[in-house]
Amino acid sequence: MNMKRTEISELGEFGLIEHLAKKITINSPHTLIGIGDDAAVLDARGKKILVSTDLLVEGVHFDLTYTPLKHLGYKAAVVNFSDMAAMNVLPVQITVSIAISSRFSLEAVDAFYEGILLACGRYNVDLVGGDTTSSTSGMMISVTVIGYAEEADIVYRSGAKEDDLVCVSGDLGAAYAGLLLLEREKTVFEAHPEIQPDLDGHDYVLERQLKPEARTDVVLVLKEKGIKPTSMMDISDGLASEILHICKESKVGALLYPEKIPVDPQAAGLADTFKMTPLTLALNGGEDYELLFTISQKDYEIVKDIEGISIIGHICDEASGVHLVSSDSSLLPITAQGWDSFK
Ligand code: ADP
Ligand code: MG
Repeated sequence: MNMKRTEISELGEFGLIEHLAKKITINSPHTLIGIGDDAAVLDARGKKILVSTDLLVEGVHFDLTYTPLKHLGYKAAVVNFSDMAAMNVLPVQITVSIAISSRFSLEAVDAFYEGILLACGRYNVDLVGGDTTSSTSGMMISVTVIGYAEEADIVYRSGAKEDDLVCVSGDLGAAYAGLLLLEREKTVFEAHPEIQPDLDGHDYVLERQLKPEARTDVVLVLKEKGIKPTSMMDISDGLASEILHICKESKVGALLYPEKIPVDPQAAGLADTFKMTPLTLALNGGEDYELLFTISQKDYEIVKDIEGISIIGHICDEASGVHLVSSDSSLLPITAQGWDSFK
């Protein structure tokens, strides 16, 4: 580990921006001018422009006692890419704004940007601007993502129709299990600093929490197979909360089959430890950044054979509500217990 510590005050705000800008390259034909002027200049090339922003606050959204800054940078970028994927669109540019206190050294900021730029490189995204300022305590990060699409390719939350099939990519529950594990070890460490954290054998859930991925690959696969979902969103607050959003926006109901919900096995194995069921981890956890989407019945034959996509239920009329169908065919209403920073 690099133990050198350079104070940000040695560079000043402009010095820091210059230092960061040196590492940044521009690749997309949608980017005419990136960092350096009063505004970036982007070229929509005749397409619709999609914009989404996230604000992350230390102590509310992330805990630096167990989150490496490089991972935090990667995650801050990726969760925004996921918002584009949720619209069936690829991310093209981001701006990143940070507020940091004197607690953060240049090396810490560099680690954070290493993560941001790693994500940008992997997802072909240009970093085109941002803002840099000081904060009296803690770190704040705001990322804005921009994408471009033909109107006809954009998928909204509001398009689900009766009889559509409900699909989910990947697996669920792991990111939340990872968070619970990290929080548990932090509590143990605070009480008994001599005890080493017990994180062995939990690589997958930890990676899902600390280094999530955006499912832009699913967007591309669906496109390649000629499928446009009727509605879609990303799963950031838990499946229960998200299916309720889709149903509300689409004015429909849904029936989901618990045995079809793809709970990650490592997370399921930890459920007991946290006095939860594997299903609750998937329904009420969050931060999985998988895609929840609906497809028309006519696309069933194609979608059923796509690896890593689970068909977990179907859409019904609004008056029927949103339910889980248990093994004895009784219906359990789905209620949102997703993550809410104001609670
Ligand atoms: P202003 O005074 O208008 O806020 P700045 O001096 O903050 O301008 O920014 C100069 C340039 O550097 C702009 O192109 C801005 O987008 C970019 N920039 C500033 N901070 C960051 C950052 N944290 N990450 C990326 N680009 C940044
Ligand atoms: Mg500025």
